[in-house]
Amino acid sequence: MSKLYLIRYGEIALKGENRSLFEDILLSNIKKSLDNKDKNLIIYKTPGRIFLETSTDQSIVIERLLKIAGIVSFSPVQKLSLNYNEMKKETLKIVRNNLKERENTSFRISARRSNKKYKYDSMELQYKLGEYVIENVDQNKIEVDLHQPELNINVEIRKHNSYIYSKVYQGIGGLPVGVTGNVGLMLSGGIDSPVAGYMGIKRGAKIIPVYFHSFPFTGDKTKQKVIELANILAKYQNNIDLYVVNFTDILQEINEKCPNKLMTIIMRRLMLKITELIVEKKNGKAIITGESIGQVASQTLDAIKVTNTVPKLPILRPLLGLNKVQIINMAKKIGTYDISIQPYEDCCTVFVPDSPETHPNMEQVEKGEATLDVDDLIKKAVNTVELINIEAY
Ligand code: ATP
Ligand code: MG
Repeated sequence: MSKLYLIRYGEIALKGENRSLFEDILLSNIKKSLDNKDKNLIIYKTPGRIFLETSTDQSIVIERLLKIAGIVSFSPVQKLSLNYNEMKKETLKIVRNNLKERENTSFRISARRSNKKYKYDSMELQYKLGEYVIENVDQNKIEVDLHQPELNINVEIRKHNSYIYSKVYQGIGGLPVGVTGNVGLMLSGGIDSPVAGYMGIKRGAKIIPVYFHSFPFTGDKTKQKVIELANILAKYQNNIDLYVVNFTDILQEINEKCPNKLMTIIMRRLMLKITELIVEKKNGKAIITGESIGQVASQTLDAIKVTNTVPKLPILRPLLGLNKVQIINMAKKIGTYDISIQPYEDCCTVFVPDSPETHPNMEQVEKGEATLDVDDLIKKAVNTVELINIEAY
């Protein structure tokens, strides 16, 4: 049996002319997240709202809608006829179901009538339905509270049907994925970069993750971990194309030829260049990293200065203003934390210099990498990149 959902979106409503494009993208994202379960789902928009009808299990629908950027909130809705008896029975049923979960509840009825021809106006309907509930439920278990009710039963009277709902799920908000464009994400196995990717997704970016793998210095378990992280991110944008760059040769060459204290900086410069070449082919318009300022030696402002200018694409650092506790909380919320803390090392921990340069300057860095055949190394890495297509569902 098909069930109905009312989906609310806030931010897109603000965006003037682009509004209908945004709505269409949101509609299509919702559809894509569910149509592997139900090819016949129906989705349509009315001003300011989206209605979804699908036979997919309610728990699955809720889980998926909670991951779609652009949705502010949603409610499973009962669609009924305009028959008042049907409405009052459904209202009572909602109250009784609610009282199965708790001993008593305060409630209110919030009615709206866009169909002005309906026999009761909204005030009358609220009053009549409220009265019916009070008459049919044990007085000790129920009380009316118009201001902060635990249970708010919404009744909407439209042209052909009435709609009743009481539960409101808060979505992640933001902008629908695809609205902003494609953006590369430097994805490591750490805690930060998956969260940074999620922040980009929430702003409507379609993320293209690039991971630098240095086998055997980093084992295939680390790669597996990154694939798992990409799988989680894929759920927020339906699918994801993960690029895995074989970084071993480059790493060894830097290790042999460059000053040890510049290791991390030079490595990061090459990573950025390679990421840019990969994502530009996919029409990527920026690169996201999980960096913030001052967390580690490679993230001092001087270190950022000598890496930032490597790509022509802008580098976005959505975690800039967050502290570690905030980042960890967000990682827990989006479901990446438990994967990120699995104890497999990344290449940075294997080759980390004994005393890294915290205040490098450009002259020093250029001198440090002068013996590398940078173009050749980059070309090889780009030509041997592995693409992993991940479908979320
Ligand atoms: P994370 O938790 O994301 O690994 P971090 O705090 O460990 O971040 P660094 O190791 O200095 O910080 O890395 C800074 C950023 O560089 C990462 O957030 C990520 O965007 C990128 N990065 C680091 N290592 C890799 C890698 N092997 N592949 C892809 N990107 C990487
Ligand atoms: Mg790291």
